[in-house]
Amino acid sequence: MWSLDKGTPGRDYVLKWEGEDFSYFISHWFALEGLKVAKAMGNPHHIHGTTPGDKFTRLMRRVISREVPCDKCGANKGSPCVRPSEHPVMYGGVHAARRDEMDNFINNRDRELEAMMSFTSSWPSIEGERD
Ligand SMILES: [Zn+2]
Repeated sequence: MWSLDKGTPGRDYVLKWEGEDFSYFISHWFALEGLKVAKAMGNPHHIHGTTPGDKFTRLMRRVISREVPCDKCGANKGSPCVRPSEHPVMYGGVHAARRDEMDNFINNRDRELEAMMSFTSSWPSIEGERD
């Protein structure tokens, strides 16, 4: 079972499989996206042909591709980054410019989330949030 717990500064949110650390996030919003991706991925011990970490990284790059366009290669929101040959970058990789754009996006989303949480008393605590 996947879970998301509060961590420590720099590793603010901890994504865990069966209680064991799997990945760390600084962004609240990105951590919630990570939990969704992990749940969709399922049991990490049932992944074949790659490591759970590589699989998770590829799926998280899709989240980046979904949310922001790329200034470097001109990929639109939802499309993968492409090489000059117009073939997708290997393993769903994203250009540095797109990662920077994603950082801005994430900061805004975290601010929105923070504002939402302070206005919504019934907002669930992230601790103990489980599948
Ligand atoms: Zn790109």
